[in-house]
Amino acid sequence: GTLDANFVDHLTQGVLTNNTTVLAQAITLIESAKTEHQKIAVKLLEKCIGHQTESIRIGITGVPGVGKSTFIESFGKLLLSKGKRVAVLSVDPSSNETKGSILGDKVRMESLAKEQHAFIRPSPTGGSLGGVARKTRETIILLETAGYDIILIETVGVGQNETTVRDMTDFFLLLKLPGAGDELQGIKRGVMEMADAIAINKADGHNKKPAESAKMEFSRALHLFAAKDNGWVPKVMTCSAVENKGLTSIWSCIENFVTLSKENGFFEQTRKHQNKKWLREHINHILLRDFYEHPDISKALSVLEKKVVDGEITPFRAAENLVKNYRET
Ligand code: GDP
Repeated sequence: GTLDANFVDHLTQGVLTNNTTVLAQAITLIESAKTEHQKIAVKLLEKCIGHQTESIRIGITGVPGVGKSTFIESFGKLLLSKGKRVAVLSVDPSSNETKGSILGDKVRMESLAKEQHAFIRPSPTGGSLGGVARKTRETIILLETAGYDIILIETVGVGQNETTVRDMTDFFLLLKLPGAGDELQGIKRGVMEMADAIAINKADGHNKKPAESAKMEFSRALHLFAAKDNGWVPKVMTCSAVENKGLTSIWSCIENFVTLSKENGFFEQTRKHQNKKWLREHINHILLRDFYEHPDISKALSVLEKKVVDGEITPFRAAENLVKNYRET
């Protein structure tokens, strides 16, 4: 009713003016599983669309310990020094209030978090990878509406996560450790192929030389892959997040990528394609939610489950019957 409408207006104004308290509150609403919260969130998102700042969405992945949070702190500060407004999100489906997260419960990126033009949001807690991804995509819209023009999306390299983050970003950066000989074998071909750039981190101290040889090995390995549709040739670089080295080159690389892909139309095309994918995924989400939350369905499902377990009906027939009933309700 009117109350909700006022609340949506309050949130929209807060997000548009980058009132970080309201922004955080709006993100919490997006992350909430409650139906009434979701309804407000949808209205808020509708108001935000069209007010988004032009942004670059950058995915950053790598195994635990590679230096993701250290890198994001240093890289984030470099971007701030260039007048950018930086938001950091993470996609970590393991994060959960009781279990704790792979990315750690300690306050991460504390010094970046203190900066005026930086905004850091930990991964939404609980839920499937699909759920976390959906919330993250909606949060990106809010952040862009609030004026953040660099969105860094971090994930732990554990397989499925990378694909999910790839699907919501413009540029995908893979962080690796020096010691290519062993590393090359552990690396999943699919993840290498997704990367627009590989940065070998911790290229400092006695790791400088191994980092350089890792760089050569990765460059060679990348040449085995077919060129990307967008004409971009993935780059391999070294950096040190603690010593602040190589970060400027990584930023130039990203700028070059954006220039190229905007010129050849690939930037827009990728975002459109991603939107189409999000549409499909969201439809799937809504349908499944409506189905399983339907009171008749949940009752009928437990009856059918027992019948399937007792061998009275096949799982296939049971599923057909249940969906048929749902269509008729
Ligand atoms: P994450 O798990 O990928 O987020 O990794 P962290 O950022 O927490 O870093 C893991 C460890 O590696 C920490 O002890 C960091 O201080 C260290 N580290 C991160 N970046 C560098 C680097 O560039 N050089 C060196 N020598 N150590 C680093």
